[in-house]
Amino acid sequence: MTDYFQISDLLTDEHRLIQQTMRDFVKREISPNIEKWAQDAYFPPDIVRKFGEVGAFGPTIPEEYGGGGLDYISYGLIMQEIERGDSGMRSTASVQGSLVMFPIYQYGSKEQRRKYLPKLASGEWLGCFGLTEPDFGSNPGGMLTNIKEQGDHYILNGAKMWISNSPACQVAVVWAKNEAGRIKGVIVERGMAGFTTPEIHNKWSLRASTTGELVFENVKIPKENILPNIEGLKGPLSCLDSARYGISWGAIGAAIDCYESALHYAQQRIQFDKPIASFQLIQKKLAEMLTEITKAQLMAWRLGTLKNAGKATTQQISMAKRNSVEMALQVAREARQIHGGMGITGEYPIMRHMMNLESVITYEGTHDIHLLITGADITGIPAFK
Ligand code: FAD
Repeated sequence: MTDYFQISDLLTDEHRLIQQTMRDFVKREISPNIEKWAQDAYFPPDIVRKFGEVGAFGPTIPEEYGGGGLDYISYGLIMQEIERGDSGMRSTASVQGSLVMFPIYQYGSKEQRRKYLPKLASGEWLGCFGLTEPDFGSNPGGMLTNIKEQGDHYILNGAKMWISNSPACQVAVVWAKNEAGRIKGVIVERGMAGFTTPEIHNKWSLRASTTGELVFENVKIPKENILPNIEGLKGPLSCLDSARYGISWGAIGAAIDCYESALHYAQQRIQFDKPIASFQLIQKKLAEMLTEITKAQLMAWRLGTLKNAGKATTQQISMAKRNSVEMALQVAREARQIHGGMGITGEYPIMRHMMNLESVITYEGTHDIHLLITGADITGIPAFK
């Protein structure tokens, strides 16, 4: 395992055990199949149960609700190992844990926690998170999806776009405006009349993850399905903090997989009677890849310790997400070059990681939006509008 600065020395025995368990799981359940799943644009439904069994869903949620009761370093390590396998697989797990279980745990009633969390933790149910709309991506506060009170229930109308897991979900945490224009969290269940989840096809990225829309046409929502303890944009944004934190670790996994493949290939591939690893330009690529991976590993680890202490800021998480994903894309591009023509085939994981990362750099806040978050933090001047 690529660990140039001995970051594993900073981990506990429990962290190392969790990392190894997830690595074994990914090697057994994901790596042998992922290339075919991605080529076929196939989301394997069985993986949901398997993720539940191995503890990939909601690792930081307390055990009484079926979660792992683990810390944030453990969560980061789990995301990193899954994303060494595939960013689409990691997306499935991070949506379930950070974007569905987290808001139900953090803002839900006791009844909501009891009803949904154990089923989501075990993988009996798959969840999705509906924030983005066709006309409101980077600016989710403009959303049009809305709820209107009607007697003992609400009526939900609107549409969400680009929703990971949506075509396969049993439950959706949806953000909608009430009559007062305040954003509320709504738990929508498959089977409610007027609720549909059309799939989005023809993606060149995250092909083993299923993505779709959420369409609500006069969906009758019982009042007990509203998250009682949150109002406003800070609800969905706090969920995104948790998911982005996971991505800041996860993307490093994709980078490590590309780097390790490139190193191995460079040592084996002979040109001009020598392994290409003996050429200075190849060594420069490999040395820079490893340097950038190491810097990102250290940033993620430090962010994890801040998160465990309850001190990680949204802005720090933005910086780490942005840095890790850009780094991983650069590593994938360099790795692609080292593999020469072979780098474009499914014989190696490189192009799949690279195409996946083109989504990861856009979702959960685009690369430029995260830069503007850092800019606003250091200057005190928001430059969004
Ligand atoms: P836009 O907001 O239209 O942005 C287009 C470009 O304009 C970007 O480069 C952006 O950086 C730039 N831009 C926008 N505003 C500014 C500004 N003020 N200053 C400078 N530049 C600006 N959403 C969910 O709610 N749930 C999900 O599960 C989910 N899963 C996804 C899965 C995939 C595969 C993808 C691709 C997206 C997913 N998303 C999901 C949506 C994702 O979060 C949005 O795509 C993202 O927030 C960007 O929104 P947009 O695509 O509408 O782009």
